[in-house]
Amino acid sequence: MILKAQPKASHFIDGEYVEDEAGSVIESIYPATGEVIARLHAATPAIVEKAIAAAKRAQPEWSAMSPTARGRILKRAADIMRQRNRELSELETLDTGKPIQETIVADPTSGADCFEFFGGIAAAGLNGAYIPLGGDFAYTKRVPLGVCVGIGAWNYPQQIACWKGAPALAAGNAMVFKPSENTPLGALAIAEILHQAGLPKGLYNVIQGNRETGPLLVNHPDVAKVSLTGSVPTGRKVAAAAAGSLKHVTMELGGKSPLIIFDDADIDSAIGGAMLGNFYSTGQVCSNGTRVFVQRKIKAEFLKRLKARTEAIAIGDPMDEGTQLGPMVSWAQRDKVLSYIEKGKAEGATLVTGGGIPNNVSGEGYYVQPTVFADVTDEMTIAREEIFGPVMCVLDFDDEAEVIARGNATEFGLSAGVFTADLTRAHRVVDQLEAGTLWINTYNLCPVEIPFGGSKQSGFGRENSLAALEHYSELKTVYVGMGPVVAPY
Ligand code: NAD
Repeated sequence: MILKAQPKASHFIDGEYVEDEAGSVIESIYPATGEVIARLHAATPAIVEKAIAAAKRAQPEWSAMSPTARGRILKRAADIMRQRNRELSELETLDTGKPIQETIVADPTSGADCFEFFGGIAAAGLNGAYIPLGGDFAYTKRVPLGVCVGIGAWNYPQQIACWKGAPALAAGNAMVFKPSENTPLGALAIAEILHQAGLPKGLYNVIQGNRETGPLLVNHPDVAKVSLTGSVPTGRKVAAAAAGSLKHVTMELGGKSPLIIFDDADIDSAIGGAMLGNFYSTGQVCSNGTRVFVQRKIKAEFLKRLKARTEAIAIGDPMDEGTQLGPMVSWAQRDKVLSYIEKGKAEGATLVTGGGIPNNVSGEGYYVQPTVFADVTDEMTIAREEIFGPVMCVLDFDDEAEVIARGNATEFGLSAGVFTADLTRAHRVVDQLEAGTLWINTYNLCPVEIPFGGSKQSGFGRENSLAALEHYSELKTVYVGMGPVVAPY
């Protein structure tokens, strides 16, 4: 049988596709139809060894190249991604079920931005410092870490492969990337493009695998750093395993972020922000503002307009350019989201709209209606746990101090947002919110120029911006003695 999106082989190692059928089967399923579109194999220990050995062998020569030369290759990869945007976006839609309307503007393009940005700053972002010490002096160098491992989640497979790969390569490292077992396809395309752009073989390797494969990478003695995008429980396991050999780690984990809407806000803009921050990518975005705190005076109007706009969302075939909301990534995720919706109903939240399976789509697809709950209270399960689906919880509040305290009353600290016309208040509030990435009068915009990452249980380390280069390199300090050594003995 010919499968719609079957890659040449499961893994991409040392500049070429590699297969090892001894690995357990990973089926890639198109979430809109339930159809198997590719059949791959998880990496065996031999494949893991092969990928890490290739990376280890290739890295010294790469790090000895001038940063400008490294950057040129990354920028070329950005150009190829843009030229192939349509094809890559269709692949991303098949991999994730996200509508083509989104993938065509948000997925390969954000990966290309990332290669372009890190290609551009490779030459300027890795400089050290000169430290005068009287006659003596010292200088610092920013040096690569060596072999870095990237482990991805399934919501942005191509973007995550680029967000980890670009800064790692710009800083002179080699990477072994393992995509999520739910979305194995996009990263292989990124590896191919990097090599087409002239990346020497062995520097960006992709291996498939699941939760059994990840630890083989994290525990490997030749790996210097692990960057994970995933859930908090996985983050705890990976950080604990990495601690055993004191590896560098970046943790991009989950969230339950507050989005606070004051009664002086532009209400339509705030609704737009709340909808983007709950329904984009069918709600499968870590930084989503899933606890929408609305000041009581505007509650009725906010809910009325939100309901109308939510019910107008076009749900359907992700390959149709008119579709605005696709299915969940997997049957398991669909079930999880539906069970949270049932908990919301059972615990007394008011269902404003949605709350089930849409009736205009095939029963084989993993669809869930965009859902809004009002009268949600802080103790409800849907207000405390990350749902990772199109479920918006609207909570009421009266005053500023109260909403800040309630916004912060969570173990997570990924993101937060504030909508208000009072700019002084906006800055005062974001100053007190405990989160890594915050927005005022907009939500969820993450261009590559700004650092992205979490605090508290949402993780540590930052992706994007100059900050990411620091997380893929370390300082070497050199003290230079300019006179004779004076020894007391
Ligand atoms: P997950 O934690 O189940 O899996 C993430 C990755 O870790 C997968 O590739 C998986 O195979 C791997 N893995 C699982 N167990 C492992 C182990 N013990 N050792 C090494 N690797 C292991 O997450 P998911 O369901 O793929 O993604 C959804 C989660 O990711 C959500 O919590 C979401 O908030 C989070 N996320 C965070 C960000 C961010 O940037 N902060 C972005 C996207 C998603």
